[in-house]
Amino acid sequence: MKHFDFEEEKIIAEINKRGAKRVLLQFPEGLKSEGLRLARILEKIGVLPIISGDPCYGACDLVDFETERFEIDIIFHFGHTRMVRTEKIPIIYVDVRSNAIINKAIESALFLLNGYQKIGLVTTIQHAHTIKSAQELLVNAGKTVFVGDSDKMPYSGQIIGCDYSNVKSIANEVDAFIFIGGGRFHALGVALCTAKPTILANPFDEKALLLDNQVKKILQQHWDSLQKAKKATIFGILVGLKPGQENFDNALKIKNLIERKGKSAIILLINEILPEALMEFPAIDAYINTACPRISFDAPLKFLKPVLTINEFKVLSGEYSWEDMIKKGLFEK
Ligand code: SF4
Repeated sequence: MKHFDFEEEKIIAEINKRGAKRVLLQFPEGLKSEGLRLARILEKIGVLPIISGDPCYGACDLVDFETERFEIDIIFHFGHTRMVRTEKIPIIYVDVRSNAIINKAIESALFLLNGYQKIGLVTTIQHAHTIKSAQELLVNAGKTVFVGDSDKMPYSGQIIGCDYSNVKSIANEVDAFIFIGGGRFHALGVALCTAKPTILANPFDEKALLLDNQVKKILQQHWDSLQKAKKATIFGILVGLKPGQENFDNALKIKNLIERKGKSAIILLINEILPEALMEFPAIDAYINTACPRISFDAPLKFLKPVLTINEFKVLSGEYSWEDMIKKGLFEK
């Protein structure tokens, strides 16, 4: 995969330093195809590499519960930064930085920034090292640039699907945002929690795109889903089993609130929140998702019943207005 750095030397150095004999490799979707190549490299130095074949969407999704059973010495977790602090065995995080050059994508973004002077820059871990050069390009083009530096994120300007603190810390200062990255999911998250014009600057195809229309469409879908949930009498509260997604205390509070309104609620423990899994409970009218909020991102299109985020539930329970919820972030945990 020519666009990404898997830091093979760092991996070998860690294995040698710790005298590891058996290692587990965990990749997010899209990077798993690199597993075989890395495994071959590790076999050559006398290590048994094992690849996790399960889906992995974030650093919340660690496989460390299986490590004792298979006598794993180290986990190498690729493509995310640390989120879960309690670890049974050493977990080494490999950023998997992209080598893609950002210049042309930023230049394309500049064409869409007419009339916007103060620009916020955000990105994912794969492009966090490019923030400084993107900033220079924008400053040279006469823009004033802001980069968030929240202590919740390891890198300045970095966001993940359930933490936009680096966006919100500068949202009041800027006229528009540029998100550097390959997909729309995070960029839409920026637009949704700020209501500011957001441009996706994609270093892979070197193009830039203003996300206006999609934001309106997503908000409309979530609004409709909320109206449907208002009519529900039986709620399912989804509690994720992945280490960084478990939110049982919050689920108990939500259950309590629902029951105080005279409706009924049942807690469901679940590892993968899939439409097929929820279809097994036809009596449930709507779900509150306390696990990964990205599941709710396109839920109105994928699931038969509403699957609300915690913040959407707060609108339902009257704690937030719809406008408050947008400011807090539809997908914020
Ligand atoms: S958005 Fe979901 S998958 Fe990503 S880190 Fe947050 S909880 Fe995990």
